[in-house]
Amino acid sequence: MQFWHGRQADSKNQETPQMSRYEDFYRQSVDAPEAFWAEQARLIDWQAPPTQVLDASQPPFARWFVGGTTNLCHNAVDRHLADRADQPALVFVSTETGTEKTYSFRELHAEVQRTAASLAALGVGKGDRVLIYMPMIPEAAFAMLACARIGAIHCVVFGGFASGSLATRIEDAEPKVVVSADAGSRGGKVIAYKPLLDEAIRLSKHKPSAVMLTDRGLAPMDLVAGRDHLAADLALQHHDAVVPCTWLAATDISYTIYTSGTTGKPKGVQRDVGGYAVALAASMKHIFDGRAGETYFSTSDIGWVVGHSYIVYGPLIAGMATLMYEGLPTQGIDKQPDGGIWWRLVEKYKVTVMFSAPTAVRVLKKQDPALLSKYDLSSLRALFLAGEPLDEPTARWISNGLGVPIIDNYWQTESGWPMITIANGIEAKPSKFGSPGVPMYGYRIKILHEATGEELTGPNEKGVVVVEGPTPPGFMQTVWKDDQRFVDTYWKSVPGKMVYSTFDWGIRDEDGYFYILGRTDDVINVAGHRLGTREIEESISGHANVAEVAVVGVADALKGQVAMAFVVPKDGRALADADAALKLEGEIMKVVADQLGALARPARVRFVSGLPKTRSGKLLRRAIQAVCEQRDPGDLTTMDDPATLQQIKQLVSSA
Ligand code: AMP
Repeated sequence: MQFWHGRQADSKNQETPQMSRYEDFYRQSVDAPEAFWAEQARLIDWQAPPTQVLDASQPPFARWFVGGTTNLCHNAVDRHLADRADQPALVFVSTETGTEKTYSFRELHAEVQRTAASLAALGVGKGDRVLIYMPMIPEAAFAMLACARIGAIHCVVFGGFASGSLATRIEDAEPKVVVSADAGSRGGKVIAYKPLLDEAIRLSKHKPSAVMLTDRGLAPMDLVAGRDHLAADLALQHHDAVVPCTWLAATDISYTIYTSGTTGKPKGVQRDVGGYAVALAASMKHIFDGRAGETYFSTSDIGWVVGHSYIVYGPLIAGMATLMYEGLPTQGIDKQPDGGIWWRLVEKYKVTVMFSAPTAVRVLKKQDPALLSKYDLSSLRALFLAGEPLDEPTARWISNGLGVPIIDNYWQTESGWPMITIANGIEAKPSKFGSPGVPMYGYRIKILHEATGEELTGPNEKGVVVVEGPTPPGFMQTVWKDDQRFVDTYWKSVPGKMVYSTFDWGIRDEDGYFYILGRTDDVINVAGHRLGTREIEESISGHANVAEVAVVGVADALKGQVAMAFVVPKDGRALADADAALKLEGEIMKVVADQLGALARPARVRFVSGLPKTRSGKLLRRAIQAVCEQRDPGDLTTMDDPATLQQIKQLVSSA
C-alpha cells in the first residue's frame, strides 16, 4: 500500500497502537453520542441551550438538540463582531469581471442586514422559501445568510442549470421570492440568467410573488412590473437596517438543496439549524483544522453542498475569512490566461485550508508545473479534495507540487459534511492512496451485502456502504415535503435492515480504511457534479424523433465520467446517414443543454436500432457502460436481444 501525504510511512511497518487518539475520539462518538455531541454543541452560541441532545424515538428520523434555540447567521457573523469585526470575513475574487473585494465581519453584518430587510420588505418571513439562482458573487452569500437570519428557508440552485431544471425546483420549493442576477460569466462568456429564470417561472405551476435581482451590468434585463425588483434599489431603502436574528428551534429547517437520484425527479435534501451549525463547527475544528482569523478557500460553487458547508457557513462559523472565487482555475484577474491564479490567491490571502475537486486538479495538471513553486504557499496546511474518486497520478502530482497533505474526503449532499476522511485536527493519521480514510466521528458506517443485507466484516469484501442510524448532526432531516420518499429511498434499499444507503459500493481494508468503488444506482459523476441518468434520459425523450434512450456514465480521463447517450430514433435516417446522425445529435444535445444546462449535455449521442434489455424490459445500463469502457459486460443470461449490445460494441470500437 502506498502513501502520498504528510508523514510518508508504510503501514505494514507501522506498529499498531492500542487505541489511537482518533479511535478513542471515534469510539466516544458512537458509544455515547449524546455526551459526545453535547460537548461539540459548546462550539456554537445558543440563545437557549438544548434540553434533549437527541430524540431518536421515531427512526430513521434523528432530531438533534431538541429544545435549543440558535441561529446560523448569528454564529457565522454576529458572534464574531466582538473579537474580529474588522477582520476579513468574505474575500471576493472574480477573474471574470476583474473584481477583488474584501468584506470585514462588520461589513458583512451590514450587507446581510440590508438583504434581510429587503427580503422582509418583499414579504419573506420565517419558514418561507427563498430560491437563490445566482452566480458566484457576494450577493449570493448575503442572501443565504439573510435567509438564515430571518428564519427563511433558502434553496440555492446551481447557476449552471437551465430553465427546465430550475422550473422543477421552483415548483417543488414553492418560493415566495427568487433571488437572482442579470448574468453569470464563465471563461469570459456571459450567461444571461434572467431569460432562463423568466422561462423557468413561465414553465412552473408555482409563481413566486417577487424576484430580487442584482444587476452586474453584464446583460440587459427586462423587469416584470410588480414582480421584479432591483436589489440595489431595495438595499438603498434599507441601507442602515437593523434586523435582529430570529431565534430558531435547532430542529427548524435551514435550507433545502436538490440532488439527483434514481428517478427523474430531484430530491430536496432538507437540513436543520442547530445540528448543522454544530456539525460544521466540529468539522472545522476536527477535520479541516481551520482557525479563526485565517483564510479558507473552497473552489466549489454555492450551488453545491460544498458551497453551503465550506464556502458560506463552515469557515464563517469558525471565524475564518472565506475566499469566494468566480472564474476558471486558468484565468488571471487581468482576464489573461494564468494557470497559477489559485496559488497566487493562496499567497496573497495567506490561505491555510483549501478545498477543491479532483477534476479541477486534473485541469491544473495541464499547466506548467513551475506555477506550483512560483508562489509562497507556506501558509497552506492542507488541500482537501472531494466529490469524486481521487486517482493516484492526480494525488501524487498535486502532493509533490504543493508539499502539503492532500486529504481525500468522501461525503454526499445528504450528509452535509465529510463521512469518511482523516480527522487531522484530532490525529494526523497517514492517508492511503485511493482511500478517503476512516469513518468520521458520529458515523456508524458498515458494508453490507446488497442482496442479503448481511454485514461484510472481512477485509476487501465488496458491498454497499451504509450508515446505521441515528445519523449524526448535520445529516439531512428528510426529503422536503416527502418523509415517505426519505424513508423508502434511503432506508429501505437493503433487505431486512433499516440502514441509510449511500448508494455507493465500497470495501474496507485490514486497517479499517474505506475505498469507494462507484455508485450502485443510476447516478453519474461528471467533473464532481452529480447527475441522474434518468433526468438526462427524460430530457432527451422530449425530442420528437426519439423513440427510446439510455444514458450511461463512461470513464473519462479529465472529468472522471461523462454521459453517453444511446438513442433509438423514430425515423431511421440517423441510422443510415452520417449527416442526418450528426444533425440529430446536435439537436438532442441542444435540448439537454437548454433544459438541464450544459453540464448535463452528453459527450456523444449514438444511434442504435434497439437497446439492450432484460426479458422483462429493464434497461441493461450497466452492460452498456461496461461495453463503452471496454470491460466485460458480465452475466447476460437475462438479456432479450444480444444483437443490441453487439451493435453498441461495434459503434464504440469504431469510434
Ligand atoms: P454529491 O451528493 O454531489 O456530493 O455526490 C456524492 C457522491 O459523489 C457520492 O455518493 C460518491 O459517489 C461521490 N463521491 C464524493 N466524494 C467522493 C470521494 N472522496 N471518493 C469517491 N467518490 C466520492
